[in-house]
Amino acid sequence: MSEFDFDLFVIGAGSGGVRASRIAASHGARVALAEEYRVGGTCVIRGCVPKKLLVYGAHFAEDLKDARKFGWDVPDCKFDWNRLRDNVLAEVDRLEGLYGQTLDNHKVTLFKTRATVVGPQKVRLADGQEISAERILIATGGWPHVPEFPGSEHAITSNEVFHLETLPKRVVIAGGGYIANEFAGIFNEFGSKVTIVNRGDTILRGYDEQIRDRLLQISMTKGIEFKFNAPFQSIEKNDDGSLTVHLDNSEPIQADAVLVAAGRVPNSKGLGLEEIGVELDKDGAIKVDEANQSSVPSIYAVGDVTNRIQLTPVAIREGQAFADSVFGGKPTVVDYANVPSAVFSHPPIGAVGMTEAEARNKLGSIRVYTSDFRAMKNVLAGRNERALYKMIVNAATDQVVGLHMIGPDAPEILQAAAVAVKAGLTKTDFDNTVALHPSMAEELVLLK
Ligand code: NDP
Repeated sequence: MSEFDFDLFVIGAGSGGVRASRIAASHGARVALAEEYRVGGTCVIRGCVPKKLLVYGAHFAEDLKDARKFGWDVPDCKFDWNRLRDNVLAEVDRLEGLYGQTLDNHKVTLFKTRATVVGPQKVRLADGQEISAERILIATGGWPHVPEFPGSEHAITSNEVFHLETLPKRVVIAGGGYIANEFAGIFNEFGSKVTIVNRGDTILRGYDEQIRDRLLQISMTKGIEFKFNAPFQSIEKNDDGSLTVHLDNSEPIQADAVLVAAGRVPNSKGLGLEEIGVELDKDGAIKVDEANQSSVPSIYAVGDVTNRIQLTPVAIREGQAFADSVFGGKPTVVDYANVPSAVFSHPPIGAVGMTEAEARNKLGSIRVYTSDFRAMKNVLAGRNERALYKMIVNAATDQVVGLHMIGPDAPEILQAAAVAVKAGLTKTDFDNTVALHPSMAEELVLLK
């Protein structure tokens, strides 16, 4: 009989925590999981999943227009935000139920309450109950960062955006990253007037420059306004409920909603971690080694709370690797090289590997291939929107070290192509593959 109540106590039922719980349990561990909000975490409840459904919903705006060129009589259509919002939220409820069922099926004990760490092998639930576990896994994710400025309480974050009572006519979005560009596309397609306000002069830092420029250019053509080098000064609430956003270096902007998308910080505050000697970095991320183990040997962490790569599939891999290593007798280390990523903007971006600038710095001698084309569908639709595919090749080895794409379905195409980049295939391997015609993806094997 173990001296502990559980073999593993997981805090946080998001992507990483649920995967770790389920796999550890399937390896025979007695697992408990505490979640203070909803099972599924950011991705399922207020992130990737509802966002992607809104992206689909938004894209109909263009599809319905384009359909006329394809022979369909489409009357002028009206968009009903409340209907889409409620359908999306119902789908989120359904998924939350499925996650709960999976935990049930794996006999994971779920505590729907906040838990904090009170010792290297002890947690305390909100009602004061203390539970011991041989190991504790922190998988509490991240939290939207809202910079401090007067009136910041009038802004919403990605936590609230899925629940808006009405569709705002004018939206100001602070930030130039993933969430800013994705929601700019969504609201713009729904007919809102969107202004992105960025503290610097770069959107989507980390992505290839040409691809970013293309998104900027297309977004502006679609009517999204950008203000660069314009940090927020304050937000003022007017008598009619509207907001006035005051900026450095720019005229004030009137808005009905202000969305702050200025990054996410590790959700490590108030968990009792520092008190028991778990080391955090300057941003509050739990410092872990490649085995996901913190400075306290019985305490591990996976996902956004460790601030390695803030992506759901990475958290899932970390959760799986932790459970396999610790409870499955299969030591596994997550490989962070060539992690593909996507921005579900309008149009979307997909990328894997080094950008041109990174490759030049790291490898020196590289070859760059681009295809700048108008998707067949866009040509017939009369939509003057060009896709851009870019391949970065190590000149010394012919190996493809980066792929960057913006255009319709870019993330869908990139996922398959990322296998080739991960496998270390060469430009010649791409060339030797017969094109699949007519498709957009064929551009990847026709690059000259
Ligand atoms: P990002 O890190 O993508 O972008 C943050 C933006 O906010 C940048 O433009 C940054 O500017 C700016 N910023 C940072 N700090 C401040 C500040 N103090 N004041 C003003 N502006 C600031 O964050 P997001 O919030 O968009 O998304 C959070 C994370 O969630 C992403 O990093 C990503 O990992 C994940 N995510 C992934 C998605 C996907 O996979 N498709 C979708 C949505 C989110 P600067 O460039 O100058 O630093």
